[in-house]
Order: sequence, then structure tokens, then C-alpha cells
Amino acid sequence: MTPGIRRAEDDRDREEAEHRRIFREAQRAADTIFSHYQLSQLLASHARSESMADAVLDELLHVCDADRGGIWLAQPPDAQLRLVAKAGEEPVPPADALRAGLQADDESWVVIELEEVGILALATTGTKPIDASAGRFLSLVRHELAGALRSAQLRETLELERTELSAIIRNASDAILVFDADRRVTRVNPAAERLFGRGEGALVGERCAGLYACEPVPVLGRCARCPLTRVIEGGEPLDGDERVIVASNGESTSVVASYAPTSTTADGRSRAVVILRDTSELARLAELRRGFLASVSHELRTPIALIKGYVETMLHLDPDPAAARRYLERIDGTTDRLGHLVEQILDATQLAAGQLVLDLDLDEVDLGDLVRETIDQVSVGARAPLPGLEIVGEIPLVGADRARLRQVLENLLANARKYGDNSPISVRLEAAHGMVEIRISDRGIGIPADERELIFEQFHRARNVRERGMPGSGLGLAISRRIVEAHGGTLGFDPDPGAGATAILRLPAASLAHARGLPSLVATGVEA
Ligand code: ADP
Repeated sequence: MTPGIRRAEDDRDREEAEHRRIFREAQRAADTIFSHYQLSQLLASHARSESMADAVLDELLHVCDADRGGIWLAQPPDAQLRLVAKAGEEPVPPADALRAGLQADDESWVVIELEEVGILALATTGTKPIDASAGRFLSLVRHELAGALRSAQLRETLELERTELSAIIRNASDAILVFDADRRVTRVNPAAERLFGRGEGALVGERCAGLYACEPVPVLGRCARCPLTRVIEGGEPLDGDERVIVASNGESTSVVASYAPTSTTADGRSRAVVILRDTSELARLAELRRGFLASVSHELRTPIALIKGYVETMLHLDPDPAAARRYLERIDGTTDRLGHLVEQILDATQLAAGQLVLDLDLDEVDLGDLVRETIDQVSVGARAPLPGLEIVGEIPLVGADRARLRQVLENLLANARKYGDNSPISVRLEAAHGMVEIRISDRGIGIPADERELIFEQFHRARNVRERGMPGSGLGLAISRRIVEAHGGTLGFDPDPGAGATAILRLPAASLAHARGLPSLVATGVEA
């Protein structure tokens, strides 16, 4: 081959090598652009931060020709770096060590700080380091990567807060409604649907006037003193608006409402959130207390006036010894009533503090004897016939607090007499199925069915008794039930007594030793 021909061939080889180099570089540039595109797609995918980190790490390993790597993210609550994505068989070194440049001799890690979001580290196994163009690529995408991961984390935090907030609103016992600037409901919670007696979603779109049963003034298009309008237009919150809500089934509930302006819409008009708290229970308790105070004052005033009357008569009229004795007996009976009332009030105070049974004094009690004694005692001086007593079979001795049980029996017998309309009273004792049952029946005014349980609440007096102005404090049954329950028993009224009322007291036929182990007594700290 002539030198001319060889030169020409050399030139051609060089040219081909140069073409191949240019082609390789172009291909690499195309690869990088494609990887960048792939990465951008991944980052825009709105995936969760951890799955995004996984996919990104895979892509970066491929672009940078690396075979190990990890991504650490600063995570709540303490913003500690945690490894969220890892590639390669071998474990990755801790983030702190990589940051400090501590790595094994046969490893070559490139560590990229992802701003305050976390760090990324890639390595090749063996001595081949990650090449410079890959390093440039990493610096190029660093900012984009940090931004996408930060957004993903923010999305997750927001999602978590949104879920927590909706759980709070969904489970809140207060009714919560959001109104738009036209005073139409836009959102509600289940408590609001219950309060208004509407099905799911049925309240949305309703106007406030419909819900509050207001009469809008025609010219104004709203009620004259609409609290919602004041809040929406004035932008100031409003509290303590008391009103009655009438549900679709006609049931009414007393509520106290508070209003607060929320977000402002594009046209500058505000929306408002309304919280309605059911206050009917509080209102009922206040009513009961009022009734209690009225009846207790009456109960106290009457005997005091009686005592004063007798004392003045004795002082000024100088009665003969027989009359004086009669007056003294009446004073004695009246002071007993007063003492009883004061004791009931003290018991009720202890009941409220949950301490009523602390002083149970257990003993072996013959219930037949106790019932007989109590009947005699409440019948002293009474004009009505003695209650009839029937004892069926053998009644075992029970471990109980005699004085407290006598208090219960006295209360039940006194009630049977007071509300019994002078009808005969009967008492029946029977032991069965490990219990001793005492039934006290009268044929008087009876108890309205819907109040059969309520009368065991402190201060509650049935409407038939209140309507007739019969005296009483509404405390006896609440105290009695508590005493009976402390003995492991039950106290209630027969749902179907025929006429009048039948109190049913059941006590466990427990021996003294057994009664001392009753959980109800132990739980309340009674000393055996
Ligand atoms: P008080 O008798 O002082 O009102 P209680 O707690 O003993 O208080 O009774 C509560 C209510 O239960 C009474 O006010 C009455 O309405 C009702 N009640 C209790 N016993 C009877 C009864 N034998 N017959 C009708 N109503 C009764």
C-alpha cells in the first residue's frame, strides 16, 4: 500500500472515530434529556413522598450508572433524617457518616443535599467513580427534586390534617354548619343532621330562615335581627345566641349558638360557621333545681310555721296539760320531718359527690323483722289502715346495712302512703333465685309510664304529683336506689302494676361474709 493510500485510510479511520464519538455524545445528551423528562414526569406525578423517592432513586441509578443509593428525608414530628428509599444489596451507610465524608475505601459516594428536605447519595461498587456528567446532571435536578419532595410532604401533612379535622367535625357532639354569603348551608356534620332531623346531605342548600324558622322581612330579604347576617356582613364573631331548634319531626331542642366568619369569597363576601350546642339537658337540670328549691323551701317553711304556731299557742294561751302534751307531740313529729328532710339533703350532696355508700355498716339482717318494724314505725299515729304484710316461704338472713335498708323501706312505704290516695298498701316478701324480693304496692295515683325511670333521678317528681301540688323533695328514690345498688340489689317499679304503683326491691340473699365481698362495696371503699 502506497503512503498516499495509507494516509487516506488513516484519515478515514480518524473521521469514523470522530463520528462515533460525536454520535455517542449526542446519544448521551439525548439520554440525559430523556432521563430529565422521565424524572420531571415522576416529580409531577403527585405520588406520596416515599414512593416518589423510590422511583426517583431507580431513575437516578440508571442515569448515573450507579448501583447503590439512598434517599433520606427530614420527617415529622422531629425533622430527623430517615432513610425512605434504598437501592442495592448492601446496606447503605448512615446519612450523618455520608455527610461527613466517611466512607469505605472501596466505595465512592456522591452526596447531594436536597436543601432542607433531606439528602440523596449514590455510589458505584468497585473503584469506578460516578462520572462528571452524571454529577452535573444531579446538580441540575437537585433543586427540582427537593421542591417535588417538599410538595409531596406538604401534601401528606395537609391530607393528615384534613383527615383529622374531618374526623373531629364528623364526631363532634355539637352541630356544625357552614353558611355561604347568601346564608345557604354548604357543609354540615352528622350532629347537625340529627339536630334538624334530616337525612344525610339533606341540609345542604337550605337557607338559614328555613332552619331557624324565621320570618324574613320582605324588603330586607332576611330577618330583622339575623345573627348570621351580622356575622357575614360585619366580619365579627358572635356568641351565646340562645334559641330553640325545631326538627323536622317537630321535636324541639334548646341550643346556644356561636357564629364565626370564615373564608372570604372572590367578591369579598364572608362565609360563616355556626356551632349549635344542645343545652336541653342543662335546661332540664336547671328546671329540676328550681323545682327542688321551691319544694324544699316549702317543705322547710311549713313545719317551721307549724312549730312556731304550737309554741306561740303554748306561750300565750296557757293550755291545759293534756292539750300541751298534744302540742308537744306535734312539735316532736314535725321536728322529725324536718330532721328527715335535712338528712335527705345531706345524702343528696354525698350522692352528687359519689360517696353515699362509704359508711355502710354491714350486719346480719332478718328482712321480715325489718319490714315489720318499719311498717309499725311509719304507721304510728297514721289514720289509714296498717299495710298488709305477706311473707312467702323462708326468708334467709342477709348481710346488709340495717339502718340504710330501713331508710329505703321507710321511703317506699311513705311514698305508698303519700301517693296512695288512702288506698290499702300491701307488702310482699319472697326469696327466689338467690334474691330476696320485697314488693310494696298501693292503688293510688300511679306513675306516668314515661317517668318510671326518671323518678330515680335526683329532684325529679312526676308531673301528676307536681300538678296536684303534693309536697316532696324528689330525693328519696334517688338515694334509695343508690343504697340498694350498693348492696348489689336493684330498685324499680313494676311496669304493669294494674292500678297505682308497685315498688320492687331485690336484694341478693347473701350471707354477711359474702356481702362483705360484694364488688359494689369494695369498689366504693367500704371497710369490712
Ligand atoms: P318525693 O316523694 O319527696 O317527691 P321521691 O324521690 O321519694 O321524692 O319520689 C320521687 C317521685 O316519684 C315522686 O315525686 C312521685 O312523683 C313518684 N313516686 C314515688 N313513689 C310513688 C308512688 N307510690 N306512687 C306514685 N308516684 C310515686
